[in-house]
Amino acid sequence: MYGKNSSHFLEEWGLKRPFIIAGPCSAESEDQLFSISRVLAENNIKLARAGLWKPRSRPNNFEGVGIQAFEWIKNIKSNINIRFMIEVGNPKHVELALKNNIDALWIGARTTVNPFSVQEIADALEGVDIPIFVKNPINPDLALWIGALERIMQTGNQKVVAVHRGFSFFRESPFRNLPVWQIPLELKSSMPAMTLICDPSHIAGNRTMIQEISQKAIDLNYDGLMIETHNEPEQALSDPDQQVTPAKLFQILEQLNLRDESSPNQLFNNQLDELREKIDHLDREILEAIASRMKLVDEIGEYKRDNNVTVFQLERWKEILETRPDWGSSLLLNKQFVEEVYKTIHDESIRVQTEIMNKAPADLD
Ligand code: PEP
Ligand code: MN
Repeated sequence: MYGKNSSHFLEEWGLKRPFIIAGPCSAESEDQLFSISRVLAENNIKLARAGLWKPRSRPNNFEGVGIQAFEWIKNIKSNINIRFMIEVGNPKHVELALKNNIDALWIGARTTVNPFSVQEIADALEGVDIPIFVKNPINPDLALWIGALERIMQTGNQKVVAVHRGFSFFRESPFRNLPVWQIPLELKSSMPAMTLICDPSHIAGNRTMIQEISQKAIDLNYDGLMIETHNEPEQALSDPDQQVTPAKLFQILEQLNLRDESSPNQLFNNQLDELREKIDHLDREILEAIASRMKLVDEIGEYKRDNNVTVFQLERWKEILETRPDWGSSLLLNKQFVEEVYKTIHDESIRVQTEIMNKAPADLD
């Protein structure tokens, strides 16, 4: 597996960290693909993306140009030094991509949700070690994402990459797909050697948020970014709102503050250790305070049980929700964060008290 310290197949292709993949949402015409590829290659982007078959929510929209793009890609690659990746949604796509010497493949979010489809794709890839990028499923289900990565890795393929493109969400949100950063971070904790790429284009759904989402991914130590890039974004046949021109892409990349995972500077490391020791100490104090609070919750639970009063009292909960965020805010804490903390604490209080309520007093000691 490609860890941070071993050579990576993308480095063997000449990419440098953070790995950048750019190119249109969809291949639309040979001219379009040619002009984008030329600017990308001139600016040292070594891996281009383009969808040939587009998974659209409703039929009779633009569903991709299909197999004709293989000829275009062949022509481009004989003139320009760039590699191509395309999306595959079924074994037929895989077969065609391999036959036409496509360099890398990605499995889209709508395919990752279905273990049958992913397994069929994995079966079609048996014995082939072409790089496979696996987007997260559209629903925030870490196991499903890990499962798809495992199905591909089980074929013996070591060139597997996870792509974080966000999760669909039914409420209004500034994002097209909610990032839910803790899911990719949990993926990284359970698969530390997995290469993790962020797709800020599908998370944002618009051009304006791509810079800040990309920076956040870099701050979280992602390995790279996949950014949809189109010569005339507004005219794009799919995802016109989120694609950027190559010029805008280079500006975004230019403005990124790159970070290292660690520093060789001894003074920095000593100071970091000191700060972390202080945090360890405070975490113990926080837990002791929560444990003391829970003891009182036990007492209240018994008291309510003995007096036949319900566990949940709306008025008290309202009072907590009204006061704690303000208390937190006066300590310069984010109100919403404090509210979330208290929701979690309150859930646990209710769980503990319900347990107490349903035990006879004799069981308790
Ligand atoms: C795409 O990359 O154009 C695409 C369809 O992505 P996703 O599967 O993440 O929606
Ligand atoms: Mn797209």
